[in-house]
Amino acid sequence: MATVAEIFETLEWGPAPEAANPGLDWIKEHQPFGLFIDGGWRKPTSGKYFSSENPSTGKPLAKVAMGNSEDVDAAVAAAKRAFEGWSKTPGHVRARYLYAIARQVQKHSRLLAVLESMDNGKTIRETRDIDIPLVARHFYYHAGWAQLMESELPGMEPLGVVGQIIPWNFPMLMMAWKIAPAIAMGNTVVLKPARYTPLTALAFAEICEEIGLPPGVVNIVTGEAGAVGDRMLEHPDIAKIAFTGSTDVGRHIRKVTAGSGKRISLELGGKSPFIVFDDSDLDSVVEGVVDAIWFNQGQVCCAGSRLLVQEDIADRLIDKLRARMERLRIGDPLDKAVDIGAIVGPVQLAEIKRLVEVGQSEGATLWQPSWACPTEGSFYPPTLFTDVSPASTIAQMEIFGPVLVSMTFRTPAEAVALGNNTRYGLAASVWSENINLALDVASKLKAGTVWINSTNLFDADSGFDGVTDVLAFGLPYLS
Ligand code: NDP
Repeated sequence: MATVAEIFETLEWGPAPEAANPGLDWIKEHQPFGLFIDGGWRKPTSGKYFSSENPSTGKPLAKVAMGNSEDVDAAVAAAKRAFEGWSKTPGHVRARYLYAIARQVQKHSRLLAVLESMDNGKTIRETRDIDIPLVARHFYYHAGWAQLMESELPGMEPLGVVGQIIPWNFPMLMMAWKIAPAIAMGNTVVLKPARYTPLTALAFAEICEEIGLPPGVVNIVTGEAGAVGDRMLEHPDIAKIAFTGSTDVGRHIRKVTAGSGKRISLELGGKSPFIVFDDSDLDSVVEGVVDAIWFNQGQVCCAGSRLLVQEDIADRLIDKLRARMERLRIGDPLDKAVDIGAIVGPVQLAEIKRLVEVGQSEGATLWQPSWACPTEGSFYPPTLFTDVSPASTIAQMEIFGPVLVSMTFRTPAEAVALGNNTRYGLAASVWSENINLALDVASKLKAGTVWINSTNLFDADSGFDGVTDVLAFGLPYLS
């Protein structure tokens, strides 16, 4: 073992694992998990369960109820009954429930962070410092709006029962983004978590029980998209579908709900530009890139996945970036010294590998660090493509993995043209020491959010959506 003096010289990190016990014990006590409907737990009508796996080991983690259309009907009926009382409950009383939820999330934050890390594969550093604190923040923030609704949003009414379908990349945070504004504004909810990552939504259901949220205000139905999701889309008593996920499923939702009178909000993908001008502080840029594309293994809708660099500094920046990539640490997501965790599952891993092969076959140059990934579980190394053509597949398609494509530009106008050369319009990041230049470029980018000399900053009071809509303050849940 190295001495302290040696470590002081090498600055090597040893492992710093967070104990898995709180999560494993909690799972053991509860499984097989039922469906949370009308304020209580019930067995799935199908009698079937599916297994949620730990992506860093590939091993089963928990048995979870396989809901079906009958379970959705029961959940919607419960939410409809609950709407009568909840929508008439004064805002300041609803606020008290949201404050109580936020406090319980903080109280159970260690359990929730460990569960999220084990179920999704993301690092404990991220779940502990980003996902779970932001979940609490969303409930605190929307509690404030519940309280202010009558004075600040006069004449507006909740919609009714809202169907919410969420993805696996930020399981609990996406749940909070959806549930907090909806119930704050007096709606009731039926939520379907992603099949890969149901556990923190089930822990959240337990929190709803703990704080005495009226039965039926929040219902959680786990199960397959084909059965649970599709029934939610066609259910006549669901007033709105709120969805985050892939573009293809977003399109499907639009088609199926067209003409039904249902409202929809769709938060789909991105291929966000990360634009670096030659006067930028390059060391800060490198850390920004790490946060932009290796945060959550790049499985982030607003990931800065296209690095656009001013030509005269491109070689210098790419050298620095490669040196940094060489020192990123991949491995056990519960290790606090690990930067990159596991990809959510073998299917997503195979898709990343496929797109990387397409990139190589289209002539781009691939670079990966010299170290090897763990062989157990679904891991993929941080990857950098140079010599990328703007029209190539990897420059246009969302890879949803730790893969960065880089291109160069000469003038600000060219940076804007390249930045906007995408079918998406979610986010962008601009780096320059010249604030006039940065603000000018930011205003010309077609993106709902533009960060300057920073990236991936989120907060409950800052609306987050594509270029055409503003999703803020629960407005999507009012009429
Ligand atoms: P999906 O869009 O398939 O899944 C997102 C959610 O939608 C899940 O809860 C899923 O359920 C549900 N769903 C899937 N099909 C239907 C349907 N027909 N009706 C109703 N609900 C449905 O994403 P994937 O998990 O398949 O990921 C594929 C790609 O999507 C990724 O590679 C990435 O590009 C993109 N994506 C984007 C996200 C974002 O934040 N914008 C998040 C996740 C993925 P179930 O889990 O049971 O299949």
